[in-house]
Amino acid sequence: MTSPPLMPVVAGTMKIPAIGLGTWQLQGAVLAAVVAAAAEAGYRHFDTAPRYGNEKAVGAALRATGLAREGYFVTTKVWHSDLHADALRRSAESSVERLGLGPVDLLLVHWPNPAVPLAETIAALCQAKRDGLARNVGVSNFSRSRLEAAIGLAGESLAANQCEYHPRLDQSGLIAVCRRHGVAFIGYAPLGSGSLLDDPLLGLIARAHGRTPAQVVLRWHYQQGTAAIARSANPTRVAQNIDIADFALGSDEMARISALARPDGRIFSPDWVENWE
Ligand code: NDP
Repeated sequence: MTSPPLMPVVAGTMKIPAIGLGTWQLQGAVLAAVVAAAAEAGYRHFDTAPRYGNEKAVGAALRATGLAREGYFVTTKVWHSDLHADALRRSAESSVERLGLGPVDLLLVHWPNPAVPLAETIAALCQAKRDGLARNVGVSNFSRSRLEAAIGLAGESLAANQCEYHPRLDQSGLIAVCRRHGVAFIGYAPLGSGSLLDDPLLGLIARAHGRTPAQVVLRWHYQQGTAAIARSANPTRVAQNIDIADFALGSDEMARISALARPDGRIFSPDWVENWE
């Protein structure tokens, strides 16, 4: 089954498929089956990281799909302990080697690290792009002010900010800043890591459209013009999650889903992030 195409999210010359596959916690045979199912269902955007310990397997699974390399988009990252220039360079080179797919499409600083000068990190990131390790570079988990500081320091355009986003977490301010600077916003944990799928409102809207709550939430992301990377270990769910092109949520439904946001809605808040603004 192949889903009809969804409009990509565009940032400068970068076009990123709106619905991507998250691979955190996926390994071995499960990962291989999920990547194969995703490719079959029409996913062309795959998200990994050195921290997930699965870049080698993601690369092998993608090569096994037989898809032409230029037809899909691969994101990887640099962990926050590797943000000095030499370490960032080594991390990027190792990722490219493990994936075995040529340059990655997007290389992100995974989390900020206040102990490392941002200027050093951003210069090394941009150098990795100039040296052909990555076609695009960007950041992840950057607040509004940190993103603007990074943009001011960057010698190359920063193409994306990948951040937690789902109906329980209002990110409208950060999304507006991304838009103002032409930075793609990529939502991670788009299903709230699965925690919000039993919300009664989502069940109600899903039933009204003959869809699953996950499809409703991913459609909510898509209609905002933001990208989303969803994960499932279940190949059937993987295929369902991208099958969202042929229904639409009304403005009232969009607003009711957005109203699920709450002050304590953030799931990922590790102690090395000093504030989110
Ligand atoms: P998601 O929001 O994608 O939720 C995944 C969970 O939802 C799993 O438990 C999955 O269970 C469940 N699920 C998925 N689809 C369905 C469905 N159709 N019906 C019912 N349950 C479903 O969570 P993640 O936290 O994994 O975030 C997605 C990706 O974002 C990660 O995999 C990673 O690539 C990236 N990420 C990036 C971070 C960063 O710092 N930059 C931080 C965290 C994540 P099941 O497997 O049983 O289907």
